[in-house]
Amino acid sequence: MNLDFRSYPVRLTSSPEKGRYFLAKSNIKVGEVVLKCSPLATAPFDNHKKRYCYTCNLYNSSAYSYHCVSCDQAYFCSLECYKNDSNVLTKHELICNISRKIATWSADKHMKSVVRLLVQILLEYLWEKKYNDNEPKNDTLRNYFKDFLLLKSHYLDWSINLKQDWMRHKNFLLSIFKSSNLIQENIEFDEFLHMVSRIESNGFGMYYQSKGREILFGRAIYPFASFFNHSCDANCDALQPNYRGENDQVESVQTEINSSTLIKKKETFRKVEFIALHNINEGEELTISYIADTHSPLQWEKI
Ligand SMILES: [Zn+2]
Ligand SMILES: [Zn+2]
Repeated sequence: MNLDFRSYPVRLTSSPEKGRYFLAKSNIKVGEVVLKCSPLATAPFDNHKKRYCYTCNLYNSSAYSYHCVSCDQAYFCSLECYKNDSNVLTKHELICNISRKIATWSADKHMKSVVRLLVQILLEYLWEKKYNDNEPKNDTLRNYFKDFLLLKSHYLDWSINLKQDWMRHKNFLLSIFKSSNLIQENIEFDEFLHMVSRIESNGFGMYYQSKGREILFGRAIYPFASFFNHSCDANCDALQPNYRGENDQVESVQTEINSSTLIKKKETFRKVEFIALHNINEGEELTISYIADTHSPLQWEKI
């Protein structure tokens, strides 16, 4: 597998039973950062969209005012996030229409969240093909569409009920994705559902803290994060801090956000960081503990 994890001490391997997973490429010390990556795509739930910055992924305790007036689905924390990066709006224009259609689509919260992630993922793909998107100039790894395709789909194991739930929306979904050029004219719905399954089985929750509790407000896809298998006796832990800057962690979103500081240090939030919980030997499998929560099928949970 031709994947570049730069200087991170990880190596991807695979087996028929486990699929693809990470091994330690060298000895890792307790506390060491094993991998840091940014999301391939994120999608807040509809009732949180106004508090989530479409550009930098910062979640706020109150609604942002800058937004796309044509779809009302993309909100921005600052003028900088809204306007200064001309790519953001040009890119958003490609999915503005489909975003508006999804907003009025009658489907449950879970389905909508999966479909919104798929829109973002396919948009990344469209963009990657159009432009030679540069790597970020920091130590965070970026996930690409090809990494998403490495994820395991469980579509063939779906129950009849689950299949039927999606089949009901077949015509609507194919038509909106085709009219936005996100999928090809001749795609089979099965292929579409394989992508849905990859998201369902590998999505991570996005949380904010309120009064000491973690509240789920959306989903994100980090293909590389999915290569850490689950273990009850995990040797790594995943952190997803709501960063303001590398050394200036925003502990709580209730903290007042000083927009002038933020503008100076624009960052992409919602990175995920994997830390070694104890010393790990070269060749050992890297694992994290997924929190099981039956209420939300995507919450750190692999199916
Ligand atoms: Zn922002
Ligand atoms: Zn829009």
